[in-house]
Amino acid sequence: MFQTTQPVPTTARRAQESRPVTRAPGDTTLPPMRRMVFALCVGLALPALGSDPKMTVRVERLSERVLVLHTHETAARTVAIAGRNGVLVVDPGMAREQARRIRERIEREFGRKDIRSVVNTHHHFDHTLGNSAFEDVPIVAHENCAPKMRSFVAGLDRFLPRRRERTARDEARLRTLAVGSAAYGDLSSRIAVNRAMIAELETGVRPPLPTRTFDDRLTLELGTVHAHLIWYGHAHTAGDILVHVPEEKLLIVGDLFFADGLEFAFPNSRVDVPRWLSVLDALLDGPEAPRHIVAGHGGIGLDGLRARRDGIRALWEGAQVIAKRGADVDALLELCPTPRDLPGLELDDATKEREHRANASLFLAAAQKDAPAPQ
Ligand SMILES: [Zn+2]
Repeated sequence: MFQTTQPVPTTARRAQESRPVTRAPGDTTLPPMRRMVFALCVGLALPALGSDPKMTVRVERLSERVLVLHTHETAARTVAIAGRNGVLVVDPGMAREQARRIRERIEREFGRKDIRSVVNTHHHFDHTLGNSAFEDVPIVAHENCAPKMRSFVAGLDRFLPRRRERTARDEARLRTLAVGSAAYGDLSSRIAVNRAMIAELETGVRPPLPTRTFDDRLTLELGTVHAHLIWYGHAHTAGDILVHVPEEKLLIVGDLFFADGLEFAFPNSRVDVPRWLSVLDALLDGPEAPRHIVAGHGGIGLDGLRARRDGIRALWEGAQVIAKRGADVDALLELCPTPRDLPGLELDDATKEREHRANASLFLAAAQKDAPAPQ
């Protein structure tokens, strides 16, 4: 997703998949001189990506009934849950062609075609454009999603040039990577997905809007399993939800949490932190505590999620104190320093500090709205 009215913070950049692709062990980028020669050769030899031969679907089977699927490392994760009465698909990706392949793979892995519902964890394009491969299926989302999806479509004239530029940068970078390496395969798949998405949007493909919405929580019955959809309150967006499948001890947390980032929301967002905490507390400390945590773009683990939740609480409580005192964000950071070792977080210290500061500013602004004026 992106927002057009604000500078793009890390969460948005990440949602646009602009972070560098993590290189696998043993994957070596060529030194500069060889890279130039190599780029020339590979540039000439590069196959046309128009038919997207490089788009690959990776599948992780969490259990007999649960699959996690993605086409490249920075892609939003799709989760498929099979119950006796049908299959539920959460966040089907960012392009129709990508979602079509994901759907085929789900049907092949489960050996059935009865997709019963699609759920969007929030409105961002990387989670909802794939709805277009599921037009025959009810689409379920929070009631705040549809208006945001309409705004996205209205802003395509700003979105598309940026995606074209970004994809061109990816293509240039691809030519510096060793063909056959893990990084080459991953970036190649990302380019193929982006090219498909751009071509689809240019030719008028639009994501089907949610056909069933809710404002607080909703349970979808799949026979042998059921999925609780729970609104976070205003969070990463206005319509973020979690998906909890107790029979599988599965919790899909959407984009409030990232494996490679700390930021929760866009600057100046309205955030309902007490509600995040009550929702998370009820899930993480109850008798049905989950075992599998799927974040929007990777996994963070139960320990990781608990640690993040505890960090949110500490920062929120700190923000109340500082707001009452009429002090600033530096005072809050002194009270609540950047967390150093969060399980499941892959992030360098400088970025960690920057993102923690962004959270502190956000929380303090929210707390200041409630706090009485200092004496
Ligand atoms: Zn996302």
